[in-house]
Amino acid sequence: MKKLRLDNYREVTISDEGYAQLLAIVNATKVCQQCRLPYQKDCPQVYGNLCLECFQKKYASKGLSYIGELSRDQDGDVTHLFMDKNGYIHTTATGSEQEPYQSNFQTLMYWCFPVPKFVAIDGVQVELSTWQWHIYGDVKKTVRAKNAEEQRQPSAPQGQRAKAGACDGSESA
Ligand SMILES: [Zn+2]
Repeated sequence: MKKLRLDNYREVTISDEGYAQLLAIVNATKVCQQCRLPYQKDCPQVYGNLCLECFQKKYASKGLSYIGELSRDQDGDVTHLFMDKNGYIHTTATGSEQEPYQSNFQTLMYWCFPVPKFVAIDGVQVELSTWQWHIYGDVKKTVRAKNAEEQRQPSAPQGQRAKAGACDGSESA
């Protein structure tokens, strides 16, 4: 059984089978709440109920360029990556209407900085959070210098890296 609100108002309870059918209809017919157009490959849903174009209008002052999809969870919610003029990565999620989030961790991953995943404390291996990273200096400048010097160095862990990283397939700049 699933509970939901019709038109965000009337609460109903339906069977799991009904809910599965409903999800299929929702996914096939959802539209951007601003322009009311269906989402397209070149204009995907990137944030709450907004398409890429309407999102970029809404946040025009942030000057974010679209990079691509980072990940997709089991509910089908997608996290998208954007870059600001300073080279910092911002993320948005289709399942939320929160402001674009500047992710220093994703910025480091994008620019191929080696980011440790674990640290040993008193002999115990502890997984590091992705939330508390700080960046000093200009990521873009540092990366250019880095690429020139250590082109063949192994890069950051692949696990959570976006497909569209700055170092993917274009390290011979
Ligand atoms: Zn739109």
